[in-house]
Amino acid sequence: MSADLHMHSRYSDGTFTPAESAALAHKVGLSALSLTDHDTVEGCDEMEKKCLKYGIEFIPGVELTAQIETNEVHILGYLMNIQYAEFLELVSQCQEARKKRIYEMVERLNDCGVDITPELVFENASCKSPGRPHVARTLVQAGICRNFDEAFEKYLKKNRPAWMPKKKISAQSAIDMIHSAGGVAVLAHPVLYKKDKLIPKLAEMGLDGLECHHSKQKNSLAEKYQTIAKELKLLPTGGSDCHGNSKGKPLIGTVRIPMQFVTDLKKRAQTYADHPPFF
Ligand code: AMP
Ligand code: FE
Ligand code: FE
Ligand code: ZN
Repeated sequence: MSADLHMHSRYSDGTFTPAESAALAHKVGLSALSLTDHDTVEGCDEMEKKCLKYGIEFIPGVELTAQIETNEVHILGYLMNIQYAEFLELVSQCQEARKKRIYEMVERLNDCGVDITPELVFENASCKSPGRPHVARTLVQAGICRNFDEAFEKYLKKNRPAWMPKKKISAQSAIDMIHSAGGVAVLAHPVLYKKDKLIPKLAEMGLDGLECHHSKQKNSLAEKYQTIAKELKLLPTGGSDCHGNSKGKPLIGTVRIPMQFVTDLKKRAQTYADHPPFF
């Protein structure tokens, strides 16, 4: 019995539908699943329905783009009431910032002589939470770049000509909003920030958990993050961060955590549901 608590669907920058992801999870024998799209919870209902059919436990999730000091960090939210109006309002602010950034990035591309339109990117994204991967796909489809990686290398990576910083919510407001919606807040993929000193600062802000297991790291690092989590009394979590096929195969289920981790998250969420900080 194991769980994969981190993946993306077409509602953000993944390539599978939530239903396809649930079917793949069933195929590889997962017992619990969460959908953690960037700045949206739109796909949760669809995945929940499919999970029910397969007897998989569904954990509502989101991956909020946030900022601490000058660093972008991704805060995973689990087990929120995804109908809570104030939470949805914050999510919609994040989506507006994403759309504004697409206009700015396309303007920069136009300045470089690349002839694409924001409408083309929005059409390609077909979701409320567009991002750089959709710009990359548009550049490939238009024959401007040979592949996704080239689009990032040439134009979209930080400090490349079309890169734009994104207006982000503070890590504190992300954590607080997840709590007020009755959920738990987890720092996604600490391995990607290369700044472990951010972890105690986020713990101080009320962070509940740390994503100790992730597909972009070796197993030895998982042990390191488990130790940090224990020291800071953070709950360990993990997931594949599947965005679709990787080298021809779906990542779903390539990172698995024991069901006890899921039980511990649910216990913690119950403390916020019983005593919501802001209701
Ligand atoms: P955004 O949220 O618009 O800044 O886009 C970030 C997303 O782009 C990440 O979640 C990844 O899915 C993807 N990404 C970021 N950097 C790269 C890269 N160098 N190559 C390919 N994909 C990337
Ligand atoms: Fe992504
Ligand atoms: Fe992320
Ligand atoms: Zn992710």
